[in-house]
Amino acid sequence: IRTPLIAGNWKMNLDHLQAVAFVQKLHWALKDAKHDFESVDVSVFPPFTDLRSVQTLMDADKIPFGLGAQDLSVHESGAYTGEISGAFLKRLDVGSVIIGHSERREYHAEGDDIVAAKVKAALKHGLVPVICVGETAEDLETHGASAVPVGQLEIALDGVDAAADIVVAYEPVWAIGSGQAATPEQAQEVCAKLRDVVKTKLGDDAAARTRILYGGSVKAANIASFMRQPDVDGALVGGASLIVDEFASIIRFQK
Ligand code: 13P
Repeated sequence: IRTPLIAGNWKMNLDHLQAVAFVQKLHWALKDAKHDFESVDVSVFPPFTDLRSVQTLMDADKIPFGLGAQDLSVHESGAYTGEISGAFLKRLDVGSVIIGHSERREYHAEGDDIVAAKVKAALKHGLVPVICVGETAEDLETHGASAVPVGQLEIALDGVDAAADIVVAYEPVWAIGSGQAATPEQAQEVCAKLRDVVKTKLGDDAAARTRILYGGSVKAANIASFMRQPDVDGALVGGASLIVDEFASIIRFQK
């Protein structure tokens, strides 16, 4: 019932010209491979300054990828220099937004309260929040893998409507950009616990419907092992989403 989702978080990479060229090449690569676009949802999360150009291209060339942003403001509008409102993203046909990525939590001091406020801001504007949770290496040692991500998700889902369309991404911080992915077994164990959180907070329907992604050093060589896990519904890909052939291979995973 859950269509797999492969999402590319480009982080602060590719300017708008590079982004347009990349999306075109990725689309061609998938078409050349006779990829069934219905079988897997693909989304890209470019920097803010790329969104307009990528949206225009995808619209003109009928490229069936989702478009997401990497962050949004908790505010609607006003005197918040440098911030981007969910309303602006929605006007650009952006469909989803990454919230609570570990790099925002670490470098921009975003705590669970801000993450929860951003989830509400996204939903208010009809954007799907891609809620990122995950433990650091230190957390893993002291509390095991699941305690921290479970706690983070509980707070992020406080007060969220049961009918809300959300995506959860489990990204162990130590696995991000390290080349050392979690084992499929650990990803499954934590993703299953995160699904239990969705069930407790939002109910059975939401738990059955919500896609839970794994992220952290995903590549073409390991994607299938994650996708074979019953509670892993896709991947949030960083570095490997910047290489056309590698990202196309991830999208075309064979279980
Ligand atoms: P890498 O795939 O580069 O490890 O990054 C994962 C990530 O942070 C995606 O949001």
